[in-house]
Amino acid sequence: MASKITPRAKDYSQWYLDIIKIADLAENSEVRGCMVIKPYGYAIWENMKSVLDEKFKETGHSNAYFPIFIPKSLFEAEEKNAEGFAKECAVVTHYRLKSDPDNKGKLIVDPEAKLTEELVVRPTSEAIIWSTYKKWIQSYRDLPLLINQWANVVRWEMRTRLFLRTAEFLWQEGHTAHATKAEAIAEAEQMNNVYADFSQDYLAMPVIKGLKSESERFAGADETYCIEAMMQDGKALQAGTSHFLGQNFAKAFDVKFANKEGKEDYVWATSWGVSTRLMGALIMTHSDDLGLVLPPKIAPIHVAIVPIYKTDEQRAQIGEKVDEIIAALKKKQIIVKYDDDDQKRPGWKFAEYEAKGVPVRIAIGPRDLENNQVEVARRDTQAKTSVSIDGLADYVEDLLAEIQVNLLSRAELFRKENMREVDTYDAFKEQLEKKGGFFLVHWDGTSETEEKIKAETKATIRCLPLEMEKEPGVCMVTGKPSKQRVIMAKAY
Ligand code: AMP
Repeated sequence: MASKITPRAKDYSQWYLDIIKIADLAENSEVRGCMVIKPYGYAIWENMKSVLDEKFKETGHSNAYFPIFIPKSLFEAEEKNAEGFAKECAVVTHYRLKSDPDNKGKLIVDPEAKLTEELVVRPTSEAIIWSTYKKWIQSYRDLPLLINQWANVVRWEMRTRLFLRTAEFLWQEGHTAHATKAEAIAEAEQMNNVYADFSQDYLAMPVIKGLKSESERFAGADETYCIEAMMQDGKALQAGTSHFLGQNFAKAFDVKFANKEGKEDYVWATSWGVSTRLMGALIMTHSDDLGLVLPPKIAPIHVAIVPIYKTDEQRAQIGEKVDEIIAALKKKQIIVKYDDDDQKRPGWKFAEYEAKGVPVRIAIGPRDLENNQVEVARRDTQAKTSVSIDGLADYVEDLLAEIQVNLLSRAELFRKENMREVDTYDAFKEQLEKKGGFFLVHWDGTSETEEKIKAETKATIRCLPLEMEKEPGVCMVTGKPSKQRVIMAKAY
């Protein structure tokens, strides 16, 4: 626990990396842009997965699995999707290595083992899935088809950052097929809402639900719904996306169904995904200069108990009392770690659990035992209180709920303070530089204006918000009419 964390105010990017390191979440690997997710980081991801998986099943989806490789001819079938992802594709061309005759102990690609058709390592699975759906869908009775896959994907990103943007990442991708356009749109909206609710209720991360502008839309989609979150440096993070794919993939893969009247039509589609980027979102939303801060609902450990003793006898007495405390906490599904490791000092352990974002820490020493009390410290505010051991489990249960609520309201307040309406391009540029954050601005709806703003300020349209009042106005750049304000920000 020796290494120091760079303060956020000094260097936000370095702070982020320091948190990942000190909380033992992940590290860079031997492969450029690919990370190793360490056990503690993976435990948080597993918690996210299990909550999301339940939500997908509650909304009628089943899990399945499709291959990691997509034959190039299938990948090409939906042109826009193929074109959009082409520059980030890893491609398998050979299936065998052989000993290098000129260099003992080394291997070379066997030129005789060239694949007749190259295989694309999936950057997203629409192509392989829709080529399969063709076999599964014949009539309206086969619809809707509601499938999710938990998988890894590869996008050969040039500028990578742990969790936020990696070349290989873990995600889930939902792929659904519907008989009508309205049903597919409703599905895309529903899943975007599932992501938003999950972010708010579990990650304590407020998000803005919106639609992407055409230039930010998923390649091959007619509409992309998204949730956008504000990080503590005021930058935006796209935390999840849900796409209405129209009939684009059905047409590309010739997936038709016979409706009740026996008439044939192409199927309507959606796809939606969240990734290990959510780990980055979680870190950047709540953590502070002491380390990670975790919302209790997603924390692998809720309570760390640290004994403070000098003698073996004291250690044994505390241990007995702690057994009772743990039993009471476990009854309430509270996950406890009792750290009586003799090799480390209490102060070291305090810093360790602080760095790892464990929501509640309990310390107990001989004097506490005499007074039938413990010291309870909460991670979010760092406040400490003495609490009687009688009723401690109830106290901790309430405290965990309070921390969950506090983290969300803190993040909401931060976002409120850093979201501004501006009406002139000059004011926008000035405040973007000085203060950062989200800007609610009028835009004329054209890609040219969007491109100009991006080139001049690095800010992009994060979304056309869905749940904000739509007041018309004039574009801050061109003065042309605008139907509603959009959210602009610099983004990860
Ligand atoms: P997309 O298929 O592009 O709509 O992305 C689905 C989800 O994966 C979104 O939540 C993205 O923010 C996230 N995502 C996209 N690219 C990456 C990446 N390189 N690393 C981590 N997450 C990503």
